[in-house]
Amino acid sequence: MTVGHLDADCFYVSAERVRDPFLIGKPVGVLGNQGACVIAKSYEMKALGVKTGEPIWDSVKKCPEGIYLKRDFRWYEVLSRRMLDIVGDFAPNVEYYSIDEFFFQVEGNNRKAPAQAAEAIRDRINRELRLPVTVGIARTRTLAKLFSDTAKPFGARAVLDVTEERRLLEKMPVTEITGIASRNAQRLAPYGIKTCLDFANADRKLINRILTKTGEALWYEINGCPIQPMRLDRPLHKTMARGGSLGVKVSDPQILYSWMVRNLERLIEELEFHQVRTCKLTIWLGHQDAPSTAGQVPLDSQTDRFDLLLDAAKQCLRQAWRPGWMVTHMHVMADQLRRGGCIQRSLFEPSPERPETIARAKREVNERIGRFALRIGATRHLPAIYAVPSNSFDLCDGVGMFCF
Ligand SMILES: [Mg+2]
Repeated sequence: MTVGHLDADCFYVSAERVRDPFLIGKPVGVLGNQGACVIAKSYEMKALGVKTGEPIWDSVKKCPEGIYLKRDFRWYEVLSRRMLDIVGDFAPNVEYYSIDEFFFQVEGNNRKAPAQAAEAIRDRINRELRLPVTVGIARTRTLAKLFSDTAKPFGARAVLDVTEERRLLEKMPVTEITGIASRNAQRLAPYGIKTCLDFANADRKLINRILTKTGEALWYEINGCPIQPMRLDRPLHKTMARGGSLGVKVSDPQILYSWMVRNLERLIEELEFHQVRTCKLTIWLGHQDAPSTAGQVPLDSQTDRFDLLLDAAKQCLRQAWRPGWMVTHMHVMADQLRRGGCIQRSLFEPSPERPETIARAKREVNERIGRFALRIGATRHLPAIYAVPSNSFDLCDGVGMFCF
């Protein structure tokens, strides 16, 4: 078997450059955690010493001329899906490893010319999506990832010849192997295992003793023996959340209810986009000078229906709300996500026809006119929020994670 690994170069920054070429060649940082941290940076910004995860106030000192942008996971997801489609044209079996990383099986004609295949995939993605990516092809997943990681940026490398493999492994520190961080490297060092080649040449049983079964699996992979299988089903997100800071302190339950409905509408958009339904809803409230509270309701069956989720959300808010407490943050979270398919409805569930018709009409109108052109009346208590167009974009929302 021959395995390919594709990884987009500085993906979030490159994605921003796709829609705004002004950013090309400039130091760019993408911000997360409510704008507090640099979660991705361009090579220009990296050269000035800015690190991923660094607070914005430190980064601005190192790179005052940098351009800092809020993250937009929805846009990154759109590009990710298009990359996945292109890789799928070259390889029938593709594993979605993360938003900008895929593994794929190289077969057919590609087997004869893996180097050309690596280049062809890289160049087509660059031509059609204007995204720079690096592709590595090797005998195992671990080797493919290792070779593509060290070929960045805009690299295309296929290494199937064992002599060449070992020549490259000799030059790479063992920490380059995904799964061997500095602590594990420290445990290997006393045995003279410093490079990837030392690791490959080490006694398998010794590796097992030091790094357990996980390390032993890596040892097999580094020696060209593929034992990590391809996972062809895209893993589901664990949680989806919408919410964030309210901008002001709120104790009025009517206003909080409006916020809840707004966040729920946005959460449902996200569920629909990823074609998943939820079995559990949670509302989390952050307070000024008081501990956070949460309300949680399990649902009778998996759903993305507004009417059912609104009923659950009302109960959640009632559990979480404390009279007189000042709320500063709210998150509406969907847990226990399931992929579409047939649903066993509960006995007393209202018929889906009416709510589905309304949901479809709302979706179609908003797709044509604007994201919040048609929204639930309960959100009318937040006129200031809807009056500002920038609030139609998501700043602090996460997929599979959330930050407070
Ligand atoms: Mg990447």
